[in-house]
This record gives sequence, structure tokens and C-alpha cells, in this order.
Amino acid sequence: PVVTRFAPSPTGALHIGGARTALFNWLYARGRDGKFVLRIEDTDKARSTDENTQAILDGLTWLGLDWDGEPVSQASRVDRHVEVAQQMLADGTAFKCFATQEEIEAFREDARENKTSTLYRSPWRNVAETDHPDLPFAVRVKAPRDGSTTLHDEVQGDVTWSNDQLDDMIILRSDGTPVYMLAVVVDDHDMGVTHVIRGDDHLANAFRQNMIYDAMGWDKPVLAHIPLIFGPDGKKLSKRHGATGAAEYQAMGYPAAGMRNYLARLGWSHGDDEFFSDAQAQDWFDLSGIGKSPSRFDFKKLENICGQHNAVTDDAALLHEIQAFLAATDATPLNEQQSDGLLAAMPSLKERAKTFPELLEKAHFVLTSRPIVPDEKAAKSLDDVHKGILRELTPQLQNATWTRDDLEGVVSSVAAANETKLGKLAGPLRAVFAGRAVSPSVFDMMLVLGKDETVARLKDATG
Ligand code: GLU
Repeated sequence: PVVTRFAPSPTGALHIGGARTALFNWLYARGRDGKFVLRIEDTDKARSTDENTQAILDGLTWLGLDWDGEPVSQASRVDRHVEVAQQMLADGTAFKCFATQEEIEAFREDARENKTSTLYRSPWRNVAETDHPDLPFAVRVKAPRDGSTTLHDEVQGDVTWSNDQLDDMIILRSDGTPVYMLAVVVDDHDMGVTHVIRGDDHLANAFRQNMIYDAMGWDKPVLAHIPLIFGPDGKKLSKRHGATGAAEYQAMGYPAAGMRNYLARLGWSHGDDEFFSDAQAQDWFDLSGIGKSPSRFDFKKLENICGQHNAVTDDAALLHEIQAFLAATDATPLNEQQSDGLLAAMPSLKERAKTFPELLEKAHFVLTSRPIVPDEKAAKSLDDVHKGILRELTPQLQNATWTRDDLEGVVSSVAAANETKLGKLAGPLRAVFAGRAVSPSVFDMMLVLGKDETVARLKDATG
């Protein structure tokens, strides 16, 4: 069975790159009846905080990336990491190194002077246990001395490293604490991880981690190191390009389904498919579809995909998401009347809105209530001439059957009788119904508002 994992370090909130890594792991597992587990790599006490852990969990939850079981705290597993290091000592795949800090520094100094490798090769590696002094020591892995190591990566292909690039890496420090590199391998093994999908900034680590797999004789996971995300200018994605935190996109009101779809396409492709559902993504996602070159974050494309998702989302589900968005941003929730109004208006609103604030802006005509107070721009379009025409319109609308055709007919004929165009009445009618210069079409608004409310708003405005 497939087990993938997301292993964030809680040194910051969830950023777009991490969200994409989590998404790839989630898609891979969900499409294969596998498990997607979470490990919080919180061994760096100085930089890890509970707030960051919570922010990461919140970000994943918002994105709908549900994980299996409880998140595992790496720091809580220190005893087990030490146990494995002891096992390696007992097996002779690791050794006690009594070199002092000064000795190691002197070695490096020499190496720099002689332009030889600065990777530390400990002289203690071949000293028999019986000859050991009674001094503090670090535990180091016995790195291979000759030849090369080839790792197969599902994205990068076969990657070969000369073994002289591997040092006798420390696995337990002289204070007895295990190093991060050991913790990752032990945890991945114990958590049954079968596929490691992560950023290609960890590719070099894979070679060092590989030594521990070899030492313990453990099954190795399938590796997939995915290229980083760049900004539109081809440089590593950063604040300069725009928002980089998942929470910022939530706060801007992008729908999670659209984010998932867009992030899935960031570095992975399935033919020419741009817009797809979760079910399709889970069905299609494969490591062979991940590209070797960095992807570029395209803000326009994100908006476009989000707009398409809003358009196909069920009205009630969209209302639910909007309420969640308002709650997450500490905005006032919609009351029952507003919710009903929004639901009624949803079919026409959701066709065009990329974000929730944009949708709410267009929904203003159902969220507000009489008397409608036009904003400055709208007020300008409602002059006396137009008020006169709209006054004529009122009794006619009272007799209308309230179909789109009928409403268009009524407004057109009143416009014609006053030697004006239908389009010239749109501005004033928007002012009357929405109090805004921008709104859904006047006929969409009338249909949603119904006859009584429409006529009432006209009477309010024309006196
Ligand atoms: N904790 C590492 C990070 O946040 C990930 C390590 C891994 O995926 O193996 O970059």
C-alpha cells in the first residue's frame, strides 16, 4: 500500500511551495487508496513554534488536504532515533568518534590549504572498541570510501554521486542528541512511507540519508524530487512577486478547489488539461507527469482557474464556503436574509467571480436592504430626467409577468417612448437596485429581487 507524507518544519506558516508538495503527496496517495501522513519536523527547538504548527495544519485544512491519523511530532521520537543510532553502533555501520572540535577544525584548515576535500574522514573509524578512551564522543556513520552511489529518482532520473562526496556524517552529537538526517530516515521507515515526494532542494540529503538505509538494511522509498516554484520572471518565488503564504490566498478569497487545481498544474501536467476536478486529479496524478524544470507562478492563470471552479460549484456549497471565508477573515457573517438573497442571486454571480470578495461586491444588491443609498458614482447616473422615465416604468412593471423576455420588453418600450436607448437606463437602474455603478445586469437583479422588492426600490428612488 502506498504511504506518502508531508514533513513540514514549523519554522513558518504554510507557503505555496509547501502547499504544492503536500498536494502532490495527497493526490498520489488518494488516487491509489493509499495513506497520506503528516510529520511535524520540530526538532529545531529554537525555530519551531506551536503557532506555526497550527498555521500549517490550518492551511492544509483550508486547502482540503486531509491527512490520515494524528500528525507525528518528530521531536517526540528522539528516543527511537537514539535507539537506531545505537543499533548502528552495535552493527558496526557506525562508530564512536572522539575527535575534538579543534582537531576537526585543524583537519578542515589543512584540507583548504592543500585544496583537498574538506569532508571529514575520522581516524577513529577503524579503532577497536577495546582501545576507546573514556571521553565524550559523537557517533558517525561509516560512509562508503570508494565508488559511487546512484539513486533513481522518478523526476530527476538516475542521479549519480561519487562517494568521495559523502562524509562520515554525525548521527548522534557528543551531547547524545540525534541529527535531523537520522530522524528523517527513521521516521519515514517507521511510518511506512513508500514514496518521498519533496522539493529538489532535498536531493543532496537523499544521498546522505541513503547511507542510513543501507546501514540498517531497510527498504528504500521511491524518490521524487520536484523542482522549485519560480515567479513569473523566472527567479525563485518570493514576496517580491506577490503573496507566497497559503493563508494569504485564503484571506484574498480564492476558492480552495481552484487553488488545488492551479497548484496541481504547477510542475505537473496531464496532456493539455488545465481545468479539472479533484476526482480527475486523483485519477490522473502520476510522478511521470512531473516536469524537470521549475514552474512559474502565473497569477492570471490562478484567477482564471478559480473563476471556473466557482462557476461549477453548487450554489449551497459556495454559500457555505463564503461563510467560512467571512469567518476566517473575522468579517460579519451573512444573516439568514442575506444568505437567502445570495443563494437566489448565485447562478448569475458565480459565473464571473474569481474570488469571494469579488462575488460579494457584485452581490451587494441582495446583501443590502431598503432604502438603498447609492454611492457617489451611482448617484451621478440618477438625474431628474432619468428619474422621470423610471417613474413611468413603475406601473408597467407592476403589470409585468416577470420573465426575462417580458422585463426586457417593458423596459425597452419605455426607453423607446422616451426616445432613449435601453443601455442609457442601465446606469440609473443599477443605482436604484444596487446603489452601485457595478452590479449584475439589471434584468438579473429584477428577477432575483422579484416584483414587490423591485417596485419598492423604484418608488424609493423616484419618489
Ligand atoms: N522538513 C523539511 C522541510 O520542511 C522536509 C524534509 C523532507 O521532506 O524530507 O523542508
